[in-house]
Amino acid sequence: MDTIYHDQIIRAALGDLFKEADLRAIFQANIGQDRLASILWHPEYHFDGNDFLTPQCYIEAERQQAVDAILKKRDRQAALDAFGRLLHARQDFYAHSNWIPLWAEQQGGVEKCRDEAIELCLDPTAVPTLRAGTAEVLDILLYLLYRIPLVGPWIKHLYLPPGSHEAMNIDDPSRGPLFPFVMAAAIKHTRLEFEQLREALEAAGGAEAVALLRGEHSASSRAA
Ligand SMILES: [Zn+2]
Repeated sequence: MDTIYHDQIIRAALGDLFKEADLRAIFQANIGQDRLASILWHPEYHFDGNDFLTPQCYIEAERQQAVDAILKKRDRQAALDAFGRLLHARQDFYAHSNWIPLWAEQQGGVEKCRDEAIELCLDPTAVPTLRAGTAEVLDILLYLLYRIPLVGPWIKHLYLPPGSHEAMNIDDPSRGPLFPFVMAAAIKHTRLEFEQLREALEAAGGAEAVALLRGEHSASSRAA
């Protein structure tokens, strides 16, 4: 998903919860996941590879890392970084899997889809019909070939495997009428991810841990 959309999702979902500097920190950690090496060698950061267990475990590990950063080190920056990284995967899920196309089909077609009716995928490992773009060596090669200036689009036109990331993604408005629903789902799930992190922090460290994450105790945390 393009950088600008990760930014829009974060602001729409978390704008009322975090200060501007914290939103920027979450965003920077989020888009750091789209460095070329991460795109090529870490499909789990993006819910690519048609494997749903590894990215789901990755998200849970990052959530735990955010909790540990607050509780064990009182390190807000590390917590916001981990939160930004897990959000990248969660947001990419809706752009890279067929969850939204399946949901639109259930609604009776895209013209009957409404943002308010959007359904979140709470457990991607439990949906047998779920698919995401492949991330094999050929996909990596094609990803690079498609981006060669001038000839790349021509190669893509000639050869585009149907189950690949390049064929399946709904990363931006040019990918068709389902993109607004990808955004709606990603915003709603980003908010839910905050609630899950808040609950985990509250269970382990009470209201003070949540306040530290949100920067409400910054003076006392600096003194600590
Ligand atoms: Zn990504």
